[in-house]
Amino acid sequence: MSTATTGSITERIEELRARCVQCTNCALSTTRRNVVFGEGNPETPLVIVGEGPGENEDATGRPFVGRAGALLDEALAACKISRKHVFICNVLKCRACITENGRTRNRPPGPAEIETCTPWLEQQIAIIQPSVILCLGAPAARFIMKKDIKMTQERGIFYPTPYARYAIAALHPAYILRQAGTTYDGGKSLLIADIEAARKKVIEAKKEPKLTLF
Ligand code: URA
Repeated sequence: MSTATTGSITERIEELRARCVQCTNCALSTTRRNVVFGEGNPETPLVIVGEGPGENEDATGRPFVGRAGALLDEALAACKISRKHVFICNVLKCRACITENGRTRNRPPGPAEIETCTPWLEQQIAIIQPSVILCLGAPAARFIMKKDIKMTQERGIFYPTPYARYAIAALHPAYILRQAGTTYDGGKSLLIADIEAARKKVIEAKKEPKLTLF
């Protein structure tokens, strides 16, 4: 797989999208309805990475459009961020699901699926070159930040990564939606706090000297 190095960031992302939506590198391509490449502003300093498409995303080809997406939009809006300001994508580009008794439900991505799919994410990040990556949930945080990350202890903390100068993990909106009462409220407050921390870090990073010579 090679990524074009000429053209604008938007052109390069669209060229990558065109190849990604044709992907048949794993068996998920046989059950998906749509590849969910990601969307937003590829010229952004802030990339948000989730786990993988669910039913609504698979049906529409857009990331975070179900209930978890609505909660994410609400948390972004609380930080005065809209989808036009960021690029939202996932570790997996196709829905991982199982069918039991005629019902299909999401399942966590397997290690082989992550290994096969993440070159797409790596190429997206290489084109966008964000200063900050916000990881939603453990699969994204494990891939971008630390294999053994403990979400309860380490969310909200910035780490340097090979993918961006700073990365921060936040609770996944779908996890927060599974909580009730004050646990739900607390989870949502943490998500907003972590998005706000990422927003502030983007501003700080703009003032820092560039590490590259060219
Ligand atoms: N959950 C994710 O991790 N990503 C989506 O796009 C939707 C739900």
